[in-house]
Amino acid sequence: MEKCIFCKIIKKEIPSSIVLENDKIFAFNDINPVSPNHILVIPKRHIDSITDSCESDKEILGELLLSARDIAKKLKISDYRLVINNGREVGQSVFHVHVHLLGGRFFSWPPG
Ligand code: AMP
Repeated sequence: MEKCIFCKIIKKEIPSSIVLENDKIFAFNDINPVSPNHILVIPKRHIDSITDSCESDKEILGELLLSARDIAKKLKISDYRLVINNGREVGQSVFHVHVHLLGGRFFSWPPG
């Protein structure tokens, strides 16, 4: 996707603080962190949103969660929240599926 900022980050046209990269997954620190740990885990293949995902995305969506788990383990983040904003009303601003890995502070529940 030519105009997608996360696709540009994956292609390294825009710099990022990379946490993990493999053939399917890319993870980097959020530029505007809301917690001491705030990492974005994204698929290299562009998918706009969870709503736009399909049956064939099962494997990559599973990879996203397992990658978030592995990153948390590697960084010794024991408790964390994984967030996927889906749609503008709930805060999705970048339309390239991503998991926010948030940790390093207390989070209340339910979220506001
Ligand atoms: P969302 O609002 O759920 O779509 O999340 C998008 C996230 O991308 C926000 O937390 C932004 O701070 C983050 N973000 C946007 N541009 C960049 C960038 N160039 N590098 C790192 N994070 C970014």
